[in-house]
Order: sequence, then C-alpha cells, then structure tokens
Amino acid sequence: MKIIMLGAPGAGKGTQAKQIAAKFSIPHISTGDIFRANIKENTELGKKAKEYMDQGMLVPDSLTLELIMDRFANADCANGYVLDGFPRTNPQAEALTKALADKGEKIDFAINVEVPDESIVNRMSGRRACLTCGATYHIKYNAPAKENICDTCGEELVLRDDDKPETVLKRLSVYHEQTQPLIDYYKNEGVLREVDGTQDMNKVFDDILAILQ
Ligand code: AMP
Repeated sequence: MKIIMLGAPGAGKGTQAKQIAAKFSIPHISTGDIFRANIKENTELGKKAKEYMDQGMLVPDSLTLELIMDRFANADCANGYVLDGFPRTNPQAEALTKALADKGEKIDFAINVEVPDESIVNRMSGRRACLTCGATYHIKYNAPAKENICDTCGEELVLRDDDKPETVLKRLSVYHEQTQPLIDYYKNEGVLREVDGTQDMNKVFDDILAILQ
C-alpha cells in the first residue's frame, strides 16, 4: 500500500504516519527526518538543506527528488510506504506520479489531516523532538513518560529550531502557497481522503484505519 500524508506542518501527520507504518509493516518515509539526519551528520546534503530549513523554506525540488528517489530504491519499499512530508510541491507530485507510472504503479491513498491554522501555532510551541531517534512528542497531547526525556532512546528532548513561532508562521505560509494545492491534485487523481486532525490522536488514527481497511 502506498500512502501519502497531506496536511499543514504540525497537523500530526508524522505521528499518524508512524502508526500506519507499524500497523501495515511498511516503511515510514519522512523527508524532514532524512534532512535532519543529514544535518546531524554534517553531510553536504545536510549543509545545503539546513540553509532552507532554518528559514522555514522548502529545500529545492532537485535535492529533495534525488533523495527520495534514492530512498524508493531500497528493498523495504517493495510492499509500499507511507510518505510524510513528501510531496510538498506540484513538481514533486508530478515527479512521483511519473516515477510510479513508469513501473505501472500508483498512490493508493492521499490522506489529508485537517487542522486550522490557529490550532497549528498553538500546537507547535508544545512540540518536542528527539534529535537522536526522530521521535516526536507534545507536552500536552502526547507527553513522554518522563518530562523532556525520549521514551525510546532516553535522550533529552528539544524544541526544534523550525518549530519556533516565527519559523512556524513562515512554514504555514509556504504550506498554503506550495503544498495545499496538492489536495486538489490528489482529489483529481481520485485518491484523496480527509480526516479531522483536531480530534484526539487515537480517534484520528481510528478514522484513518477505517479509510485504509
Ligand atoms: P517536516 O519535518 O516534514 O516538517 O520538514 C521540515 C523541513 O524540511 C521543511 O520545513 C522543509 O524545509 C524541509 N522539507 C521536508 N520535506 C520536504 C520536501 N518534500 N520538499 C522540500 N523541503 C522539504
């Protein structure tokens, strides 16, 4: 099964994507996580991506596409995947459609997790991330067992630079301008499904399962 998660930054796509991946035994592919891992390892790709990410801007399509096409070549993608944070622009969506069509494949579902802007800014300031293993939490809605410590790997949690309020506003405007049009793109492809992302995260997951099963 090939699934795309759509929705504004902070809508909860990542949390849902991880649960979907576990449930269906398919990889969770987050371009943001891959960029962050490269930044941590100080690779050439990481250095380039950081310039854009720190400003709340998108990494150029050419870099992003090279990275994701490489990832699709991994054996673990044979039975599908859940994409989180990709595609984010029209050229990325077109490139994905074409790469799949070349193999006689297509996306099965594009799930739009809907959350209004007002809630997003509020949510993002409570978000905490583990830069070691990529786990994400929320101080109110999805708190770790021990304050500010990652449940998975025991490292200290941080507020990511790009989750700071001024960067969040920029990311939201970039989202509306460049990524929101993909909702219509996937509606036209006949694979768009919508879920209310303002609900409790377990209820959001139940709604997603009802769509996928
Ligand atoms: P995320 O963790 O998905 O919110 O992504 C964090 C940041 O990584 C974004 O604000 C972008 O700067 C960059 N990024 C992640 N995915 C993409 C993508 N598909 N295209 C361009 N930039 C991306």
